[in-house]
Amino acid sequence: MNNSGYFYGNPFKVYFRQHRCFRCGNILRIRTHRKIVNQTSAEAQYYDFSLPVEGRTIGPCEFVHNVFHCDQCEKDIEFYTQTSIEDIDFIVSHLNRQLLKNSQRFFIRKIYETASNTIVDRIEELQDLHTLSLVLEKEESLENLLTLPKLNKGLWERPAYFKIHPADLKKLRKKVATIGHD
Ligand SMILES: [Zn+2]
Repeated sequence: MNNSGYFYGNPFKVYFRQHRCFRCGNILRIRTHRKIVNQTSAEAQYYDFSLPVEGRTIGPCEFVHNVFHCDQCEKDIEFYTQTSIEDIDFIVSHLNRQLLKNSQRFFIRKIYETASNTIVDRIEELQDLHTLSLVLEKEESLENLLTLPKLNKGLWERPAYFKIHPADLKKLRKKVATIGHD
């Protein structure tokens, strides 16, 4: 059978960070993921069957790529998914450090809305998630700062991800700079 290897994700983020499972916090390891895709199947559209020299592969092809794996949850996590959530975590911890300098009464955290419109504060299954929101925790209330839809890449395993647009990040930073100065 034909065999095709690929890498999907930012190698710097993958290899120069320590990674903790977004579900349970366990340290992740890297394992090889193998999947046989038939060219006539519906999902074949997401895979690249072309070969660098000979043209196209004929028949089913085994696609091989590396993923993170959590031994505790016993789940694979796509590089792209994990690093996108880590990027959000970096932003949140940076904003919280800023808030802490202003006042100790406020704190930003992540909450999630599931497909059944339930609000939860941890990810169980990515496919059940609708949005990720950054909320400002005040004394007795929550203020929504930014809601990000769960997106999926259109290639390979179509990894889920979240992304903060640079313009939204700029607004968020500006807003955080004004909080707690009363
Ligand atoms: Zn885990």
